[in-house]
Amino acid sequence: MKHLKAVDPEIFDALKCEFKRQNEHLELIASENFTSPAVMEAQGSVLTNKYAEGYPGKRYYGGCECVDIAEELAIKRCKELFGAEHVNVQPHSGSQANQAVYLATLKPGDTILSMNLSHGGHLSHGSPVNMTGKYFNVVQYGVRKDTETIDFDQVYRLAKEHKPKMIICGASAYPRVIDFDKFREIADEVGAYLLADIAHIAGLVVAGLHPSPIEACHFVTTTTHKTLRGPRGGVVMCKAEFAKEIDKAVFPGLQGGPLMHVIAAKAVAFKEAQSEEFKKYQEQIVKNAKAMAEELQRQGFRLVSGGTDNHLMLVDLTDKGITGKEAEAALGRANITVNKNTIPFDTRSPFVTSGIRIGTPAITSRGIREDEARRIAQLIAEVLKNINDEGVIERVKAEVLEICGKHPLYPDLKELYS
Ligand code: PLP
Repeated sequence: MKHLKAVDPEIFDALKCEFKRQNEHLELIASENFTSPAVMEAQGSVLTNKYAEGYPGKRYYGGCECVDIAEELAIKRCKELFGAEHVNVQPHSGSQANQAVYLATLKPGDTILSMNLSHGGHLSHGSPVNMTGKYFNVVQYGVRKDTETIDFDQVYRLAKEHKPKMIICGASAYPRVIDFDKFREIADEVGAYLLADIAHIAGLVVAGLHPSPIEACHFVTTTTHKTLRGPRGGVVMCKAEFAKEIDKAVFPGLQGGPLMHVIAAKAVAFKEAQSEEFKKYQEQIVKNAKAMAEELQRQGFRLVSGGTDNHLMLVDLTDKGITGKEAEAALGRANITVNKNTIPFDTRSPFVTSGIRIGTPAITSRGIREDEARRIAQLIAEVLKNINDEGVIERVKAEVLEICGKHPLYPDLKELYS
């Protein structure tokens, strides 16, 4: 890093600024996490220099014998971790992992049945502003109004009516367990492929805290940087019969050279995820989410679906007279980072929203347990009940800084960035 400071002080300052921000804020964005120093070391390594189009043993470039080791380890570990028949670790992101599945199985104009973005789905599952919404005929299901859980009657009805070629399950903002077997029954009845995008819950799946989609689904995609706590990136898993098509779709279908430094970092993350410690970490994520959810409800906040089974919750602010946008900004002033989020049947736009999404993977990585998680929920409630009172916000911020100080992030880097 001494090189970066000398060569590009402006970028060094941006890193320094982000190091301070991460250390001094409580990170409650459900899709974020803090990777281990080992993952960062692999990612910031000489492997960034290497072109390696193709796959281990079948590359279009010479000199790939070392990066082959990294990719083979990543594939082997990922297979073991999830019990998958085939794995492709090259997608640069979760969206590209999904695109690879679409490219391998669909033609433009085909029908897909997926979860509505405002009910918890993801952009890359057919949103009109995404490539998927433009290239495919998208039909969407959502949650029931009474329970705010996935409306399987609607999934069944829409599947029978529209005969989709693919059904997509998995979400970005869904606090409950996803029943992959039920989706598979419906997919089988209409002859559809089933894709589970487990980007958010992959860590919980690995730890056995959420049912695995591997048996039930033809394809499973995930990001590696959320609960899985690896580098930013994506993975596709599938049954062996689709292996060739998936590999062709990733390269040369969608991507050129794989990011070998990121693939090495994925391998490190998969190794870490095989440990008993990782399982305990995932258990703590869920315990912390439950503690925060209970406390927020005790403080008078309504949670979508009445609580959480996983790492996240959605707070409905409708009866508090504030928007998600206002809540995000006020909490930000108190050094608490969340994101505004639409809630099911939201009447506000995605830029304003009636809710916020709160997730516990990142604070749990810092070592926070239930007692402090409950206190953080109280601090959130204090801010949300007083969003125009800068005195309250200042007081909360002081306590947030105290909590953060007790759980320093990347202490080995402190001197470098001071
Ligand atoms: N799938 C789901 C369910 C997600 O929540 C996300 C990201 O938030 C993605 C895919 C996309 O991942 P990426 O941002 O790496 O493209």
